[in-house]
Amino acid sequence: MKRIIYLPFDHLHRDFGALKNADIKSDLIVLIESSRITTGRNWHKERLFFLISSARHFAKSLEQEGFKVEYVKAKSIVEGLKSIQAKHKNLPIICAEPSSFRQYQALHEYGVEFIDNDFFLTPRPLFKAWAETQKNYLMESFYRKQRVRLNILMDGAEPAGGAWNFDKENRLPPPKKYEGPKYLEHKRDEIDAQVASEIGHVMTTTWATSRQGALAQLRNFIDNHFGEFGPLEDAMTTDNWALHHSLLSPYLNNGLLHASEVIEAAVKAFNSGRVPIESAEGFIRQIIGWREYVNGMYWFLGPDYRNNNQLNANRKLLPLFSDPAATQMNCIKETVTDIQNRAWVHHIPRLMLLSNLALVTGTNPQEFLEWMREVFIDASEWVMVPNVIGMGVHADGGQMMTKPYAAGGAYISRMSNYCKPCAYNPKLRTGETACPFTTLYWDFLDQHKETFAKNHRMSQQVFGLNRLSDLPELKLRAQEVLKGLEAGTI
Ligand SMILES: Cc1cc2nc3c(=O)[nH]c(=O)nc-3n(C[C@H](O)[C@H](O)[C@H](O)COP(=O)(O)OP(=O)(O)OC[C@H]3O[C@@H](n4cnc5c(N)ncnc54)[C@H](O)[C@@H]3O)c2cc1C
Ligand code: SF4
Repeated sequence: MKRIIYLPFDHLHRDFGALKNADIKSDLIVLIESSRITTGRNWHKERLFFLISSARHFAKSLEQEGFKVEYVKAKSIVEGLKSIQAKHKNLPIICAEPSSFRQYQALHEYGVEFIDNDFFLTPRPLFKAWAETQKNYLMESFYRKQRVRLNILMDGAEPAGGAWNFDKENRLPPPKKYEGPKYLEHKRDEIDAQVASEIGHVMTTTWATSRQGALAQLRNFIDNHFGEFGPLEDAMTTDNWALHHSLLSPYLNNGLLHASEVIEAAVKAFNSGRVPIESAEGFIRQIIGWREYVNGMYWFLGPDYRNNNQLNANRKLLPLFSDPAATQMNCIKETVTDIQNRAWVHHIPRLMLLSNLALVTGTNPQEFLEWMREVFIDASEWVMVPNVIGMGVHADGGQMMTKPYAAGGAYISRMSNYCKPCAYNPKLRTGETACPFTTLYWDFLDQHKETFAKNHRMSQQVFGLNRLSDLPELKLRAQEVLKGLEAGTI
């Protein structure tokens, strides 16, 4: 053996990262299951199971291909690398650039040699070059550049379908009693059973743990959901837990799928005429736009970005985030229950329910971020930090998004079926049955009116405060609501 190729658990692709140039005869492949992953934090069992079982399946597939593979359990990644080097004559270690600042630094200090991280479509220096020329880092500007650069959904120099963005057509509320096609169930094998028994997990069939399963999920999305993805993208309903979302983020994030494979399948389906432009564009924007933008911003904004708290939000995490019985707010109860069951909800509950609640209650951004990281199946550091700190709770003072995503109950009522059976009324802002979102939305705007009045995208909302004749009463109700949320009675 001439060198060690170290594979982090989010580099599980044969054709990308350090493996793409691997030599079966002279490279030793190493994967490390560190105690930090198994016992370091209160991870959702579904996430832990997914990460470990995917890594073990992948290690086995490399062995079957003929590679020499060492799958090591160790206290930390560095301890694991030390033990492997001691066993293999201090061979040099190669790895594709890690996906988080912390791991990058630890491996760099240990002396691991990096090659470029090609698990994204945009190299880090290319994104930096774009960001350095921008006044505001608008995702839409980046996305248009990506469309042209990658030549995706383009008719010559013009966007296919005559527009860059079909967002306005993608905001339908959920249809009544919506069933939709069945979701794919993933079969389990002996590797899965072994991992589940080691970590004390009761297996579900929601998430695949192998490359074959991830490819089956991609096919299932393209064949059964892609055509209807766009219009219902923002809808939330208790009738159907994922509507037409692709459920591909875990595989994109751990490497079982590469963005280029997902885009190739999507473009092929669009070119065959089976998928309308509003769905094709909406989905492709998520992959070549949002996903790449968020990763680029993570590296561009630097390691201290995650500590931002520009709205001075210092409330402790509310009990309802870990216990759905600690609230009567139906939207939150349903969402937290879904997360407990599957470690997943789509982007609108993440943004307009969970983050919105953290924002308008003034919950500490870092406490909320830590909770979000622990409970979601796809919660890699690079993607959670900008989404929560920048987009979700506006803790960066608007570096990433020009305005906070704060909303009252009217939005949630329009986009979901949560409100009808709820104890609260989305139209009311005062009184015992007022929707907590509606009350706290106005209270939040009032608290930060001086800051937000300077923001031209917020001035109209702030101006709306002048129309509230019941503001003093609303402020009193807001205090009751906050106390009730802390006590688990609202
Ligand atoms: C507050 C908040 C936290 C989030 N945390 C995560 C996270 O930890 N991990 C994660 O992968 N996504 C995160 N997202 C983005 C998005 O919610 C998930 O990618 C999506 O719900 C995953 O389900 P899906 O694969 O069915 O997505 P689809 O709706 O089918 O979208 C397709 C793909 O687009 C990508 N994508 C879409 N939006 C984003 C985005 N804002 N950032 C990055 N990629 C995006 C994902 O790879 C996703 O798989 C977060 C969004 C918000 C608002
Ligand atoms: S009324 Fe308010 S708390 Fe109840 S479900 Fe609707 S938005 Fe949520």
